[in-house]
Amino acid sequence: MECNRCDGEAIMHAAYSGAHLCADHFRESLEKRVRRRVRRDDLVPHDATPDDPQTWVIGLSGGKDSVVLTRILHDTFVDDPRIELVGLTIHEGIEGYRDKSLEACVELTDDLEIRHEVVSYEEEFGIRMDDVVEDDPENMAACAYCGVFRRDVLSRYAETLEADLLLTGHNLDDEAQTAMMNVLEGDVAQMAKHFDASLGPLTEREETDEFVPRAKPLRDVPEKEVALYAHVEDLPAHITECPHASEAYRGEIQQLLYNLEENHPGTRHSILSGYEELASIVAREYSGEDGAELRECAECGSTTTREICRKCSLLESLA
Ligand code: SF4
Repeated sequence: MECNRCDGEAIMHAAYSGAHLCADHFRESLEKRVRRRVRRDDLVPHDATPDDPQTWVIGLSGGKDSVVLTRILHDTFVDDPRIELVGLTIHEGIEGYRDKSLEACVELTDDLEIRHEVVSYEEEFGIRMDDVVEDDPENMAACAYCGVFRRDVLSRYAETLEADLLLTGHNLDDEAQTAMMNVLEGDVAQMAKHFDASLGPLTEREETDEFVPRAKPLRDVPEKEVALYAHVEDLPAHITECPHASEAYRGEIQQLLYNLEENHPGTRHSILSGYEELASIVAREYSGEDGAELRECAECGSTTTREICRKCSLLESLA
């Protein structure tokens, strides 16, 4: 099959847009979508100056999504003194998994000459995810513990690094799955939080001094295209899945969306655009009304709605 834009051979077909693209035009199209998302979400403040550059911290796991995001942001802003990128990698203590992906992160950041910080659960909390899974005092899935620890590390280090923005590599499939899960679980409050934290233009989000704003510039790009980009560009992405991956419900939703997308191309895009609109309405409705007062955790001082934050209570039960 020929590329729609030149005589080259197409390497991909996007059923949702009808496009057949060669490697060069595929690369160009994906980069354009990411840059358009950066613009539409107003990620670069209008008053940013080279004298007071913005620090953008990228959650860099070494998987294809964060590696592709880092590379495209680097290429976009390499000559723009208003933006400084920092890669932040979290080592969860998962034997044979994170060590490999950490190598990918080091290779990428060395290559792009980006500052790279590595933080481990072991140094931060004195735990390793392999041991947490073994003990499992709360009888929960591994990701339920890991997600709490990761959120804590990301927000604390975003502050330590004086981040103006915390960016993650969530792609269109991730976001459509999360949207479906929130809708199917009837979790309206979560929709409001999701919007406030990381959807829509930065200028329209709820302003709070408590949290560093989040952004997901890959959220218009399907997972398969992110993987293809990493392959075409020969990026040092680590593909293996975490051995403790355990979100069974997400897996079911993923399969459902694959089937829907196959029969009705464009489903993921329409889910996400409808969800973003809905979430923005819900966020306005919920603003200041959820009744949960924010306070400082009695143990660690982080912002929480409880006396002791979730991370500290999990650490207590693991002690
Ligand atoms: Fe942690 Fe789950 Fe991700 Fe593994 S899959 S790194 S346990 S959140």
